Parts: sequence; C-alpha cells; structure tokens
Amino acid sequence: MEGDTVLEGGIKARRIEVRSLSSGLKEMYAVFRPSPLGKPFGRFHEERWEMVGLYPDVGEAYRVAREVGGTYRVWVEGWGGRIEVVADGRRWVMDSPLHVKGRVWVEDMWVGKGFHWQRRERALYEGKITVYGWGKGVRAVVELPMEIYVGAVASSEMHPDAPFEALKAQVVAARTNLVRTAGKHHPNEPYDVCAEDHCQVFRGLHVLKDRVLKAAEETAGEIITYDGEPIEARYSKSCGGITETFSVVWGEEDRPYSPSFRDWERDEGYDASTDEGFLKFYPVEDSFCNVDFPGIENLYRWEVSYSREELTEKLKHLGVGKVLHIVPLKRGRSGRIYELSVIGLECERKIRGEYAIRETLGNPFLPSSAFVVEKVGDGFVLKGMGWGHGVGMCQIGAIGMAMRGYDYRDILKHYYRGATLTRV
Ligand SMILES: [Zn+2]
Ligand SMILES: [Zn+2]
Repeated sequence: MEGDTVLEGGIKARRIEVRSLSSGLKEMYAVFRPSPLGKPFGRFHEERWEMVGLYPDVGEAYRVAREVGGTYRVWVEGWGGRIEVVADGRRWVMDSPLHVKGRVWVEDMWVGKGFHWQRRERALYEGKITVYGWGKGVRAVVELPMEIYVGAVASSEMHPDAPFEALKAQVVAARTNLVRTAGKHHPNEPYDVCAEDHCQVFRGLHVLKDRVLKAAEETAGEIITYDGEPIEARYSKSCGGITETFSVVWGEEDRPYSPSFRDWERDEGYDASTDEGFLKFYPVEDSFCNVDFPGIENLYRWEVSYSREELTEKLKHLGVGKVLHIVPLKRGRSGRIYELSVIGLECERKIRGEYAIRETLGNPFLPSSAFVVEKVGDGFVLKGMGWGHGVGMCQIGAIGMAMRGYDYRDILKHYYRGATLTRV
C-alpha cells in the first residue's frame, strides 16, 4: 500500500507492506434455517437464521439446506492471525487486524477474477481500512459511506458521460444490490459485501467519477423493492430489443419483476425463441437500445464469421472432428440460446448455458448467445443481437430512454416490472 496513511498508535507512513505469517485457511459451507431465535444476515434484513451445521462439501450442504428448508453460505475459517508489517522501513510482527486510515494505492488487485476479462490493476482506497491475515495472504476491508460505494460501483458499470438520468437509474440498481446482499453472503466474515462479482464488482475509488457520485447523492437511499423486499437488480449492456428471464440465463426460478419484454414504448409481441421468430425480429429497429451514443459501441446487431477450418480448429477440444452444423436447440424469447448442438463428422456435442455458448463460439467471447447461424460458402456466419445476458435493465436502453426524455423513475419502472422505488 502506498499513500498518506496513519496507522494505529498514530504512526504515519508512506509505504506499507503486510505479509501473513500463518497458513491455515479452511473453506466450509454453513447451512442455515429460518428461526425466530437466530440472527439476521446483515443490517438491512429482518428475517432471522440459525446455523444447522458446517459441511466441507457443497453438495452435502445443498442437500441439508433443502431438507431443512434453509440456505447455505460459504464459511471461511482462518481470518486474522499473525502478520508482518513493514511501514517506511520499520518492521514488526503483530496479531491482525491492522487498522489504517488514509488514502492508499494497493498494487495487483484482481478485477473480474474467474471471468474471461480477469486482470490485475492498481486500486485506490480511502477511509478506514482494516487489514487481516487470511490464510497465506492478506485481505483488506474498507469502510465506506454508502453513496461513495454505489457511485464507484456504477462508475465502472456505465460510461461516466452517459445521460444523467441513466446514471441515476444505474446507481439505484447498484444500491439495491448492495442492500439486498449486505451481510447475506458472508455471514461470518468481517464485511458486508465482497468486491467481486459474487456480491457486486467494486474496483476501488480510482474509478469514481464526479457525475456518478452526484447521481448517487441525488438519489441517496433510494432502492427498488418488490413485495417489500429489495429486488435482484440485474443489468447487462444491451438486450438486443427483447429482455431475457432468469430461468433462461441461470436456470433459476423466474423473478416476477424480470419477465421478458420488448425494450420499447410498446410490446408488439415479437418472440425470437425460434429461428423463424428470430429472423422476423432481426431487422426491427425500434428499440431503446438501438441508439448511437459517442464512446459506446451498442452491438444492437453484430456478425461473427468463421471458415469451416477455423471453427473446426476452435472446437477441437469437443472432439467432434470436422464441424458440419451448429444447431440452436433452445432459446429464450430474446433469442438467447441456452442449448446448442455442434454436429461434427465424428459425433455431436451439446453445449448448455448462455455463458458457455458465448465462450465456446467466441473469439474470445461472443457478445451474446442470441444469434442465428448461416452457412455462407464453406463458412459460418453468426448473426447476433445484443450484448450480455439481457436480464433486467438494458444499460444502453437506459441511455436511449434518457435521450428520449424519460427520467430515472421511468427507466427503472420500464426495466423492473411492477417494482417500487423506496427509500432505506
Ligand atoms: Zn460476495
Ligand atoms: Zn435493450
């Protein structure tokens, strides 16, 4: 860490290095069941839970959770422990945590870990920072005012020059996700949310933009609820003209506030869940996300081409041999494929899940799994729509709505059906 900091005891330092001296870290799964005698998960939640047991295996935890009508959470043992601290050349050993106050740059922070875009970057944090030994590594917990956190999350989720009403909608979605997950995913860890996709991606304060912070302050405390509960406010870059549902993308139960609908002023009934329906919708231009905004590639429609040799080489790991056909088997209404067959000279292989399909057929990744396959000469052309999973708010559509004069309330009402804007 580098910056102007004050350590506990009033020691000032420019450069701090922290190393863990312990090794033990145990990941288990804790099963909880609802109980009036239990504790709430996080400070925004009413419902109470008690722990049934700890299990080393996720499958077992899942089975027990189903039996007791409860839920399971990752449970990490091994927080804390001895750490070695070097501050401006002074060295000492102590029991963690170490408390630091100030503005620090931290080297080598992961961004998008586990995804195809994963990389490391230098990240800025400010405020009260607590550093813990965490197995062989260290982890830092940063305490932030809510509006600065949601401003920073929204800053890396949407173009900071986007129309102000679209930024406000994005900020409310980020805040809703914070309130919904706070404390729920990490019941025995010393923080409310992690910084990864598991809870919500938070890259640090170096990405925070003034306009986004202003959008956060102007909507301070506002979240979206359904039946009195904060919703799972999903969003993706572009739906392509029709939004998608939870069941198609994640195989989960559908949420009433995220049905599939036309991203437009009216729903003309288009249904892209068959190749025929897809081709009927493909030329339609009336969509909020079919918009030109400087600095944003909209990918409302896109094409990716492969020669047969290229595709055969690309899909070599499937063991199907020379590729003959790519056949979509199951699609959602937005046209997103969630089951697809690759037919080769040797055999046929099925690929399931929109993410796996985008990864398998992309270079490195297809913008979305909503495409039709056309054979042109001795090659394949994938003609596609949209960018991302397409569930919930369409971020480019939100920009398109704002450009047409809709405000953030209209935008949220359009993308989260039947949900209410509330204040926490
Ligand atoms: Zn998490
Ligand atoms: Zn859209």
